[in-house]
Amino acid sequence: MGHPEGERHLERPDCVRGTRFRKVGRVRIDEILKSGGPAFSFEFFPPKTPKGSENLLGTIEELKALEPSFVSVTYGAMGSNRGKVIELVEKIKNDLGVEAMAHLSCTGHTRAELEGVLDQLSGVGIENVLALRGDPPKGEEFEAVEGGFAHASDLATMIKARGSFCIGGAAYPEVHPDAPDAETDLANLVKKVDAGADFLITQLFFSNADYFGFVERARAAGISVPIVPGIMPITDVAQVKRFTAMCGATIPADLLSALEAADGDGERVLQVGVDHAVAQCRELLERGAPGVHFYTLNRSPATRRILTALR
Ligand code: FAD
Repeated sequence: MGHPEGERHLERPDCVRGTRFRKVGRVRIDEILKSGGPAFSFEFFPPKTPKGSENLLGTIEELKALEPSFVSVTYGAMGSNRGKVIELVEKIKNDLGVEAMAHLSCTGHTRAELEGVLDQLSGVGIENVLALRGDPPKGEEFEAVEGGFAHASDLATMIKARGSFCIGGAAYPEVHPDAPDAETDLANLVKKVDAGADFLITQLFFSNADYFGFVERARAAGISVPIVPGIMPITDVAQVKRFTAMCGATIPADLLSALEAADGDGERVLQVGVDHAVAQCRELLERGAPGVHFYTLNRSPATRRILTALR
């Protein structure tokens, strides 16, 4: 998803238990995805303060009861939060015993800087990386820095050459907003997979027809890696309108009217969002999706309700 908001959404006030849990061994996400059962994963963004990070780790520790296959941590624009990302994925994996994936984006980074981040990730035992181009600062066009990369596929090529990481990539059922058309976007996605992406996670979408149509086109184009649907539980009407406008996703008319009718009543909005996501996930899994990646926006109750309903 990649457009996190502030840490004010953190809902769990307690501190993390200090106990070290267990070290997760080598776990590649592509292997998890190919192993059969649906893989459920949660995406979080690094909070701004140490207290926020502590709360987030507490939330993730609680979510362990839902047995996520992995948890991912987003990378901030221009790498401003790279230290926090590395620290969080390290703690999630090594202290909480949950497999962790670090997002990494090209925005504002030279190749050498990206290599430095990868060295640090591998130094703390992380072996799953989501290779992204990243978004430009608001209102600007994306531009690679001198000595940096212009496309996620360039980053994937560099990571692949290092040999040790399982590489994820982003995919867009409703087409990436910068792409001139769906065909060009798909041809670029093929390049990303050829460059080394071992699996793909989609941008959020609310109509499963978009995902199934996209997977069909991707398979016809020769992409054979797992394509995990990305689902965002809606908890706030204004926020989902803002996100979809930014990332080019559509809110189906019936969902939009249900949300607008519930707007102003937080619990009703949450219920509309949860009901929609449960129905979406059920159909996705029944029709062969390898799992579901939840954009939690650091709010865990909605994701917990959805996953509990699914199970
Ligand atoms: P690319 O794959 O490089 O694609 C971007 C555009 O360039 C597309 O229009 C594509 O068609 C085109 N393109 C790709 N390759 C080529 C090529 N070889 N030649 C010409 N054109 C090409 N953002 C963050 O900042 N941090 C995050 O942690 C984050 N996490 C995300 C997680 C997921 C699952 C998703 C779906 C998105 C995430 N994002 C994140 C947002 C992402 O960075 C933006 O959507 C960004 O605009 C594109 O990133 P990308 O990796 O898809 O780029």
